[in-house]
Amino acid sequence: MYIALLNTQHFMKTKFIVPLFLTIITLSAEAQRKRKAEIADTIVSNYQPADLFAPMFYPEKGTEIHSANGEPGPKYWQNRVDYHLKAANDTVNKVLTSDEVIDYTNNSPDALQYLWLQVDQNTYKKDARSNFYTDFAGVQTPHTDGYQFESVNIEQDKGSAKADFIVTDTRMQIRLAKALPAHGHIKLHIKYHYTIPAAFGARTDYSDTKNGKIYEIAQWFPRMCVYDASQGWDTLPFLGSGEFYLEYGDIDYSVTAPWDMIVAGSGELVNPTEVLTAKQISRLASARNSDKTIMIRDANEVTDPASRPKRSGTLTWHFKMFNTRDVAFGASKAYIWDAARVNLPGGKKSLAMSVYPVESVGDTAWSRATEYLKKSIEYFSEKWFVYPWPVAVNEAGIAGGMEYPGIVFDGITDKKADLYSVTAHEIGHNWFPMIVGSDERRYAFMDEGFNTFIDIYASDNFNKGEYAPKRDGEYAPGGGNPADEIIPYLLDPNAPTIMTAADAVTEKYRHPMEYFKPAFGLVLLREQILGHDRFDYAFRNYIHKWAFKHPQPEDFFRSMDNGAGEDLSWFWKGWFYNNLRLDLSLVGAEYINNDPKQGMKVTVANLDQMAMPFTVEVKLKDGTKQRVNVPVEAWMQNNIATFVIQTTSAAKSVVVDPDNALPDANRGNNGFMFK
Ligand SMILES: [Zn+2]
Repeated sequence: MYIALLNTQHFMKTKFIVPLFLTIITLSAEAQRKRKAEIADTIVSNYQPADLFAPMFYPEKGTEIHSANGEPGPKYWQNRVDYHLKAANDTVNKVLTSDEVIDYTNNSPDALQYLWLQVDQNTYKKDARSNFYTDFAGVQTPHTDGYQFESVNIEQDKGSAKADFIVTDTRMQIRLAKALPAHGHIKLHIKYHYTIPAAFGARTDYSDTKNGKIYEIAQWFPRMCVYDASQGWDTLPFLGSGEFYLEYGDIDYSVTAPWDMIVAGSGELVNPTEVLTAKQISRLASARNSDKTIMIRDANEVTDPASRPKRSGTLTWHFKMFNTRDVAFGASKAYIWDAARVNLPGGKKSLAMSVYPVESVGDTAWSRATEYLKKSIEYFSEKWFVYPWPVAVNEAGIAGGMEYPGIVFDGITDKKADLYSVTAHEIGHNWFPMIVGSDERRYAFMDEGFNTFIDIYASDNFNKGEYAPKRDGEYAPGGGNPADEIIPYLLDPNAPTIMTAADAVTEKYRHPMEYFKPAFGLVLLREQILGHDRFDYAFRNYIHKWAFKHPQPEDFFRSMDNGAGEDLSWFWKGWFYNNLRLDLSLVGAEYINNDPKQGMKVTVANLDQMAMPFTVEVKLKDGTKQRVNVPVEAWMQNNIATFVIQTTSAAKSVVVDPDNALPDANRGNNGFMFK
């Protein structure tokens, strides 16, 4: 989903505040013991180790469907849907007409007496539930009449019949006379049309440009709801914030449009000779072998009828996409079109393409869109999972940014870092949730959070950090240190948690809680708790095991626990299920036996409910420094941690979390400076 506008205001980097200037206190062993007891007595702490580290975090044991190690179990099943669609885009009346055949395979062990479908266009109706769920309710926005069903038929056991169905908001239920047995097939034939929403569609719309309208067509066909072992039928209505949860299968679709339009869609174009000129086919072949962006249709050709294979009537563009949850497409006669090869691990290739109007041309704008797309796909493929589809399209429009498998709709006026980051983000969704097929309608963090996390590192990697570090509406919007910027949300008693239902998160908290907090949580796991090697191994294993499947949140938590070999329940509980605050405080620093050469005994108190492993740094007067990494086990029994740091000479300063990497609510109590 889209990002907020980049906030270019940069905060001052927070430095640790030095509250105390102490003369080093040198004490005898007996006096030290006494002093520790005094410290413990004087500390006011909200921290309860037994609560944070309580066992039995997972309410259920692993099953044969969702294993205890977080992987799909030996009896994991998933239903399959293949779609055949023939659509026509009537650009005069702004109506999309379509003939759909759904081939549904019930791989579940259950006989299904009824089927549920998502009919998302109904979200634009005047009486749709989506008009009432936010604080914008009551604002007069334009509407459509939603889906108009001309016929709905079922084909079962070689017989065909009119379907008995109801439509309730954005769901359609088909009631079967004879249940669909376990492992059975059924076909649905649906003829329908709908009025394409204008700009108010937000994710699917049309808008004007100098050389013609741009259509962004998505959520355009009735799609099967997921039936799974966690919820049964997942029938949450489409309100707008919670996105999609869809089954995998193959989608064969064709789009008939006026002769002068270019259609750019998910998946492979299978009839190029019918819809492209010989020159365009040859340029596409060059692009497949080029790391540099190649023009397929340039700015001068946009208004030249010779750039189309015929001069009247319509053309039908035919696409196929395999193993996908969805397809979307853009259509316009205003499109400039360019492309470049994507190099994937193992010598595989894909093709990155951009379509945009002349208004978006420019070296600081869409002329680099294909480069951004290509490099993002190459990075995510190398790092996490190989991009599985032959084509990826970056389409300029007003929906920007919105993601679908193999195609993203990005902002027509975006430039520079905004265009890079929206491109990386929206194509990043092809990993979460297009490859790892989580339920984004319920669990936004597995969609926006995971994607924002991989974007942080993609941004560092792109063109030697040209747009790094990632700081935008999704991640540390003030432009400063994420560990500081997250703190107001930890302190805010009204803030929802990461696990709050996607549609129950208000706009104020949508980016902070669905993108920023989970992404920074994974950064904490990778950088502070597990380290790169263990995090990457466990996360990659999670991605590979759940690619093209349906993981639940617990599958992710269990995958990380098992793959990294760590009971992280304290972290899931503190960071994901709650907004527990962290406040570490340096409360003592004393030389052993008054002698700097024997080392320094350091005491850190945990003053609030969260725990974290932490680093303490001692700077010595001779200019050297010592660091100690203290594991989270320091907080398993006590709210005070005492340990020794090797020192060789007198100290200048001691500080907890010297890199300001932890979301410590009060850095003012983290350090001492010695006179
Ligand atoms: Zn997103």
